Amino acid sequence: MNPTVAIIGGGSAGLSSLIWCDSLGLDAILFEASAEPGGQMLKMYHRITDYPGLLPRDGRELTERFIDHIDRLNLRGRCLLNARIEKIQSSSPGFEIRSGDQAWNVRAVILAMGAHTRHLEIPGERKFENKGVSFSATRDHPLFAGKTVAVIGGGDSAVENSLILARVCKHVYLIHRSDRFLARPEWLSEARSNSIITIIPNSRAITIDGDSHPTCIQIEDVTTGSRRSLNVDGVFIRIGMEPNSGPVSELVSLDSKGFVKVDANQQTNIEMMYAAGDLCRPVSRSVATAVGHGANAAKHIATRLGRVGHDP
Ligand SMILES: Cc1cc2nc3c(=O)[nH]c(=O)nc-3n(C[C@H](O)[C@H](O)[C@H](O)COP(=O)(O)OP(=O)(O)OC[C@H]3O[C@@H](n4cnc5c(N)ncnc54)[C@H](O)[C@@H]3O)c2cc1C
Repeated sequence: MNPTVAIIGGGSAGLSSLIWCDSLGLDAILFEASAEPGGQMLKMYHRITDYPGLLPRDGRELTERFIDHIDRLNLRGRCLLNARIEKIQSSSPGFEIRSGDQAWNVRAVILAMGAHTRHLEIPGERKFENKGVSFSATRDHPLFAGKTVAVIGGGDSAVENSLILARVCKHVYLIHRSDRFLARPEWLSEARSNSIITIIPNSRAITIDGDSHPTCIQIEDVTTGSRRSLNVDGVFIRIGMEPNSGPVSELVSLDSKGFVKVDANQQTNIEMMYAAGDLCRPVSRSVATAVGHGANAAKHIATRLGRVGHDP
């Protein structure tokens, strides 16, 4: 039997959408590309202090709370894992969803594919990923105790990562391609006054060199074009997030960075196709925002299908 709603992605936005669809009497099915649900929550290695009502020790515990909720509602069977959706097409009425050689026809879709950390796409970056190139100081800082590292980026995460690393590292270079930092002023001034951190503005990373792990990074001054090498044991890349909007890039309106444009009901420019969480523009990226988006989308779908309240 075809479900009414397809939810694509099993992070916080997708799991919230599933819970809300169930409570609004909408028969929904969730497709998650990986072997376990949770999405970016599984990359949060710190205590979560900003999700109301819970103070989980990390994102895994928060994910477990979400899954426990899913289990209590008997919705585990509605979550298909290892189910990457490659294609979504309009079909009348609604949409056809494809994963491998299977297809489902649904009335509404909630896109909740989230985002992934942006890569620099420079030589050495992929080669040393998880062997000295990292995307999370919160997780990996103990591996660099007493060492010299470079952090690339100029936003909140780059500056926060520099401060975390400065607690254990011998030295931290914070390299940013501009002299305008987008990070919170209080974090930036803390970094500026920290003797462990050297801020190198107006510079971009060119290559990460080494044999089995990084030994140096080459940088170029964007104003003069001059290049130099810094000896480092590790490189942390924090240059923002990229949306996983590939499967719908030809179907819905995206902004210039590939984020899905939505209205106040989380609806895209396509009737009955919604988007929730980090996939959307504009968004303040958080679990609370993603959860709210999922609720909003499910409620609007229920209203449109005349299902508000309990299952008839
Ligand atoms: C290191 C880190 C720390 C953070 N700390 C905090 C914090 O302290 N507090 C806070 O509130 N937020 C924090 N965030 C942000 C928060 O994790 C995200 O805003 C939120 O989890 C986004 O949820 P989402 O469901 O929109 O996307 P995601 O969590 O990215 O989930 C998307 C899911 O969709 C799946 N998917 C993608 N493409 C497909 C496809 N084609 N088919 C099927 N499935 C697909 C993915 O596998 C993934 O499971 C942090 C994020 C990171 C990375």
